[in-house]
Amino acid sequence: MIAPAHQRTVEIIGGGLAGLGLALGLRRVGVPVVLIEAGAYPRHRVCGEFITSLDEDTIKALGLPSLLHDALPADSVTWFHGADQRLSQRLPTTALCLSRHALDDRMAQRLVELGGELRTRQRTAPEPAEGRVVASGRRRMTGSRWVGLKAHFRDLTLTDDLELHLGRNGYVGLTRIEGEKVNVCGLFERTASPPQRVSKQSVLGDQLRLSGLSALADRLERATLDPDSTCSVAGLDYGAAEPSETRLQLGDQFGLIPPFTGNGMTVALQSARIALEPLRRWSAGDASWTTTVREIHAEMRRELAPRIRRARTLHPWMLQPRRQRWLVLAARTRLLPTRLLYHLLH
Ligand SMILES: Cc1cc2nc3c(=O)[nH]c(=O)nc-3n(C[C@H](O)[C@H](O)[C@H](O)COP(=O)(O)OP(=O)(O)OC[C@H]3O[C@@H](n4cnc5c(N)ncnc54)[C@H](O)[C@@H]3O)c2cc1C
Repeated sequence: MIAPAHQRTVEIIGGGLAGLGLALGLRRVGVPVVLIEAGAYPRHRVCGEFITSLDEDTIKALGLPSLLHDALPADSVTWFHGADQRLSQRLPTTALCLSRHALDDRMAQRLVELGGELRTRQRTAPEPAEGRVVASGRRRMTGSRWVGLKAHFRDLTLTDDLELHLGRNGYVGLTRIEGEKVNVCGLFERTASPPQRVSKQSVLGDQLRLSGLSALADRLERATLDPDSTCSVAGLDYGAAEPSETRLQLGDQFGLIPPFTGNGMTVALQSARIALEPLRRWSAGDASWTTTVREIHAEMRRELAPRIRRARTLHPWMLQPRRQRWLVLAARTRLLPTRLLYHLLH
């Protein structure tokens, strides 16, 4: 791609939602973009694939309407605590459900159509450099307690648009996605006795049984697994790490938000939207790189960081059996202001 002489090229490391969203938004306003992605598309990712509170401004700025056209709306949730169905609620706002397999691939294809340069199967060290945006996802943490697992199933009927199962030291979300499939995705605290069998077919079911969610594991055994969709992730760090002053970081790089109490996909796309205008000015030579980084991080701190902090505070309540019982009871007896909490978190 040959950039107009007066425009500087933005280099983006990482083609998840933050990197792809930014690249699309920049191409829409004519900024030259190179996106470097370690993997290739399409690919499955560990993700609940449940998009909440994604605002119209972000959807428009990143040119997402046509890419989300078949995302399934979700309006209701049923909570399960162990084997018991505990509570059904309407969600305060409609969520969107679409697989990352489809969404990331569509965004990548659109980027190429818009004239962006996409380099896949290439890994670049995310060192700070002028014009470089680091959107390479979560920062790895050795010794992390968290493991994420996900798989798609067919022939699985849900009680509600979203089923949320609280187990011992873990929770699992089930949502309908395109193609009459259901995404099953969970976050579990590593236990001293990890599942013995580690075949693709059984790893999720084994983990569910270890977490006291045998009824759900039995349901999954009766459904049809898409073995290619099975994936896992470890090394998740939900501690607070300050973003660097010199390295422009978006999405999970800026701050990892726990799933279900938070909305990392929306945060990733919103961080891309926040970065658009300052990067357009830098590309046009109207702002220095230092000012650009400072401006974007300051806006992300203002708009996104409070949500990340609140989600981290609530996260332990989703995991510990005693707190889970209190949470479900309080929600049931309406002592828990679930609508207010949802708005604060999303
Ligand atoms: C178990 C689990 C469930 C979740 N469920 C939900 C949910 O239901 N709803 C929700 O909103 N969020 C959810 N999330 C969070 C959400 O998936 C993330 O917040 C979101 O994907 C972050 O997007 P990102 O672009 O920052 O990072 P990613 O999507 O992780 O993308 C980063 C990309 O960078 C690439 N990369 C990394 N290093 C390099 C390198 N050196 N060079 C080149 N490329 C590189 C990777 O290959 C990857 O494609 C969940 C997360 C987990 C773990």
